[in-house]
Formats: sequence, C-alpha cells, structure tokens
Amino acid sequence: MKKLIDKQGRHIHKLRISLLDACNFNCLYCMPEERQFMPKKELMSREEIFRLASILVKNGIDELRLTGGEPTLRSDFVEIVKDLSTLETKKFGFTTNGRSLSKTLDEIKDTNCKYINFSLDSLNQALFKKITGKDVLEDVLHAIFKAKELGFQIKINVVLMRGINDHEVEDFIEFSGNHGIEVRFLELMKIGVVNAKDNDQFISASEVINQVQKNWQLNSVKRKIDDTSFNYVLENGANIGFIASESMPFCNGCSRLRIGPKGTLRPCLMMNEGYKIAGVGEEEVLELLHRVMDMKPTDRIENIEQPMYQIGG
Ligand code: SAM
Ligand code: SF4
Repeated sequence: MKKLIDKQGRHIHKLRISLLDACNFNCLYCMPEERQFMPKKELMSREEIFRLASILVKNGIDELRLTGGEPTLRSDFVEIVKDLSTLETKKFGFTTNGRSLSKTLDEIKDTNCKYINFSLDSLNQALFKKITGKDVLEDVLHAIFKAKELGFQIKINVVLMRGINDHEVEDFIEFSGNHGIEVRFLELMKIGVVNAKDNDQFISASEVINQVQKNWQLNSVKRKIDDTSFNYVLENGANIGFIASESMPFCNGCSRLRIGPKGTLRPCLMMNEGYKIAGVGEEEVLELLHRVMDMKPTDRIENIEQPMYQIGG
C-alpha cells in the first residue's frame, strides 16, 4: 500500500467526503438563519464520488467517512455506501444526525460501512428541540439503539455549550455506561455562526474534565497519534472522549483530507482553499492531491467564516 506522507512527516490516510450541504436540522451552532443550499445538479454525482474515492484509496487513503450537511438526505445515499463499500479500506463510516435512519440501516447492514458517529447534543426532549429545531429525540435514540443492535460500531458526538447543555455531562456518562456506547464531548469551534472571539457558550475540555473528576476516577485510554479525541473509561463502564479542537488542537498529528460537496479537495477543515478534482483525470487528481497535502497547515487556524454545514464536519 502506498503511503502519503506530507512535508511535515504526517501520514495522510483519512478522507472525509461531504455528500451535500443540505440538512433537516437547524443546530444552533451550525445552521445560520440565512442559508442557501447548493443546487443538486452542482453536487458530485454518485459515479464521480466513487471514481475519486477509488483513485484516492488506490493511492494511500484507507479510511473514508461520509458527512455533510446531512449525508443520509441524499436519495442515492444507500447506493453511494454500497459503491464505496467495495473499496479496500480499513474503516468506512459516516456522521449523521440520525433522523430517519432506521430503514437505511437495514439496507446497509451487510456492507463494509460499519462506523457511525451520531450527533446528539441532549438527552432531554425539550432541549434537544431547542438545539436542533426538531422534536425528534425519540427517532434519533431509536436509530442509535437499532444501529448498535445491528452491529455497527457507534459513537455519539456532543457539542457542549455553556449554559445550554453542559449540565448534561453526567447524564451522558450514565448513558454511556448503561448502553456501552462511547460518548465524545466536542468543544464548540469557531466556524461559521460561532465565529465571535469571546463566545460565552464556549467551555473547554479541561474545565469539563475537572468537573467530572469530582465524581469519577478517569482512566486514560491509549490513543493513536491522529486520534482527534482523548478518552477515559470510568467505573460505571462509560467510555468518554474529549475533542478539544480549540484548546488543544491536534494539527501535529492530523491525517485528514476533505472533499467538499462539489468535488473540491481541501487540506483542512479550517481552510477554504483547495483544488477542484471532480471531473479531473486521474493523473492530474494525483498531482493536485500532493499540492493539497503541501497546503496542510501545521498550526491551528484561528477561525473560518464558512459555515460548517457547507464544509462537512
Ligand atoms: N449532519 C451530520 C451531523 O450532524 O452529524 C453531519 C455533519 S455535522 C456538520 C458534523 C459534526 O460537526 C456534528 O457532530 C456537529 O455537531 C459538528 N459541528 C457543527 N458545527 C460545529 C461547531 N461550530 N463546533 C463544533 N462542532 C460542530
Ligand atoms: Fe445539520 Fe449536522 Fe449542522 Fe446539525 S450539525 S445543522 S445536523 S449539518
């Protein structure tokens, strides 16, 4: 297998593919009131997604994750998953808000797509509705339990916001312990609508860890250099992780590239720059791949105006 090593010696092997920017949620920290989704005809086709992923997998990418917007909203989502499932990857999965996923799970359960990250910011019905704009907590929980039952490897991502859902950390610890599901707490990132320098909703991972330590002994889990989270197991069996992108950036070990919904290969979540590879021949794709790798920053970029739903988180 070819290895993609960038100028800083980082082993680049993960690819996030954003399938579309549209979403059926209005998460407070992601979706601005004024939004315009890309016209469908400008999105990469199913065939183009497969072609580009195949080229990149042949040349050193071994982990694929689909995202968006809400990736499951693509009418050809199941077909895209089935196509990509035929590629030789070590890990293939997607990130989802989990709404209306139940039927899809049955359709993809026998594929190589085994890793699902669910975004779930509250276990309280009213607060879930306040954060996402949709009163569908039950549906999301149903999808999470069904995915687990079907044997998918699942994780839950919680974006913590001071004064909004930070009082639920203990509830999530209990949830993780009771159900044997890893829960990761994400710091609110300065992306799109959350761009204010002094965002009073921001709460750092270390502050949360200090709180948790008052009640629990935290046992560190060994991590890989390019893991975005650092995890602990607790006596109740909970496995909790922290993604401290703001206070403890992990650019040093970053191993990711991204393809946007229209087929632009970009070096970093926080960089709008990149090269369009959709519609480009294989040789040129490989040339652009190396150019994009050279653009990968070594230090954390402070913020980005572009909204998360357009980038693909
Ligand atoms: N719609 C899918 C979902 O919500 O899981 C996939 C796309 S969403 C943009 C991917 C992840 O980005 C979600 O876990 C979401 O919570 C996270 N996210 C969005 N905006 C964020 C922000 N400003 N800071 C931290 N995480 C953010
Ligand atoms: Fe949609 Fe995901 Fe953004 Fe929420 S975080 S609005 S579910 S894209």
